[in-house]
Amino acid sequence: MKPQSLYQVRPGLYAVDVRPLGIEQFLSTYVLLGREVAVIDPGPACSIPNLIGALEALGVRPSSLRYVLATHIHIDHAGGAGLLLEWAEGAKLLVHERGVKHMVEPGRLWESTKAVLGEIALAYGEIKPVEEERIAGLREGDEVNLVGSLRLHVLETPGHASHHLSFFESGGRILFTGDSAGVYIRSLGAVVPTTPPPFRLDLALASLDKQVELKPEVICYAHFGHAEEAIKMLEGHKEQLRLWAEVVKEHLNEPLNAILELLMSRDPNLARLGRLVKEDTVMHAVLTRSLMGMKGFLERKSP
Ligand SMILES: [Zn+2]
Repeated sequence: MKPQSLYQVRPGLYAVDVRPLGIEQFLSTYVLLGREVAVIDPGPACSIPNLIGALEALGVRPSSLRYVLATHIHIDHAGGAGLLLEWAEGAKLLVHERGVKHMVEPGRLWESTKAVLGEIALAYGEIKPVEEERIAGLREGDEVNLVGSLRLHVLETPGHASHHLSFFESGGRILFTGDSAGVYIRSLGAVVPTTPPPFRLDLALASLDKQVELKPEVICYAHFGHAEEAIKMLEGHKEQLRLWAEVVKEHLNEPLNAILELLMSRDPNLARLGRLVKEDTVMHAVLTRSLMGMKGFLERKSP
């Protein structure tokens, strides 16, 4: 485990670069470290050994891991939960209540994941089923308590996915956004939308409003790392989604690459990414799927 792949965000809170498929700075798994331990978004099966390595480096024994939380059940966030639960036999998985059945019987989820991601899904590793007694559903207003650690408030933040949750720690005003507030590229100070089909712009904007109302100070992105000035980040992302919607709506019948070109001249975040927009395959795939989701939403809305 490289030293920079594990760092402290706040006392009792660590971020781990779990490097699925060896991709660095793609997915952060957060570890709430107290007498009892929780992790948020464990990642796909292929990176669980890296996460376990980080937990061991933090001195976490399997018996102290109490909860594995997932902001949503997409494979890059929760696909490896079953595998992690095999390591920590006393731990429980917590997901949105509508995600429970898909983690207990992941057959359909796995098939649809393969249909969307193809080879990448296989490389991420199969989604293992989680026993019914080791999973619980969360909904708006729930609290997750750990002995000697931080307390999390649960909020439903649909948009990216209908079953998306965010977690808020009110003491340190820390917000865990999963995929509800975009993808953060720390080295460039840029955020890009993650709005794949079946994206709901109306719900996503309402979710961002709800997050702003909590007055968070720190924002912990799943992709990737944390940022200060959380409200500024969330407001900026709202503006970005509105801009994307406006540009996509004006050019609904044009090819996605042409729309992406236009956005590069209109969205300062994409301008900051520069060549990466087209040359970084992961980034290009994220942006293309985000455009597809935005386009799909606007087509459904237009008469
Ligand atoms: Zn997702």
